[in-house]
Amino acid sequence: MLLTRQLAFIFNWSHSQIFKSTPIEMIYPIVAYGDPILRKVAQPVPKETDLDLKKLSDDLFETMYASAGVGLAAPQVGLSVRLFVVDGTALNEDDPNHEDFDPSLVGFKRVFVNAQILDEDGDEWAYEEGCLSIPGIRADVYRAETLRLRYEDLDRVEHVATFEGMAARIIQHEYDHLEGVLFTDHLPPIKRTMIKKKLSNITKGDVKVDYRMRFPR
Ligand SMILES: [Zn+2]
Repeated sequence: MLLTRQLAFIFNWSHSQIFKSTPIEMIYPIVAYGDPILRKVAQPVPKETDLDLKKLSDDLFETMYASAGVGLAAPQVGLSVRLFVVDGTALNEDDPNHEDFDPSLVGFKRVFVNAQILDEDGDEWAYEEGCLSIPGIRADVYRAETLRLRYEDLDRVEHVATFEGMAARIIQHEYDHLEGVLFTDHLPPIKRTMIKKKLSNITKGDVKVDYRMRFPR
């Protein structure tokens, strides 16, 4: 309860907005780089919780679609809890015969509660990533090919599953958010130096972005 009161207080949300089911999804402003919440290790969702996880995940999906993302973690809307949503289906080619068709993305729309990476395997591969909290910056990030993940679904049923390809990458990126890690942390020092100014501009709100954001004051 302390957590919920704190959150409602800190983020100026009424309890009715977060904790009661309403049919209308809310689009939250996305927390920008530099906000300390993006650096916190997020708290597990307890078995008994006042959080309406269905409403929260619906809102996360709506917020993600409104900003054309393929994944969104709760800390990115100001809630430091271990929940993220993904929908990588739009990233995929429609034609299964297309050379860029990725079977890992078929039907890859899901909510992950209390995800825990059990192990990662395979060769690291690079892909140019971006992040809704870090608009205007994209860079190659190396990540392991496959991962094994334990997580709960919205019914709080536990699953252990293996993911690969782009699905694994999206999970790794969102999972990092739960650990207070951002994709820019994975970049080599030279690249980090090159984007330093851009990052500080984002923190100041000095960035062009076509979705709502909340910048650190
Ligand atoms: Zn991100």
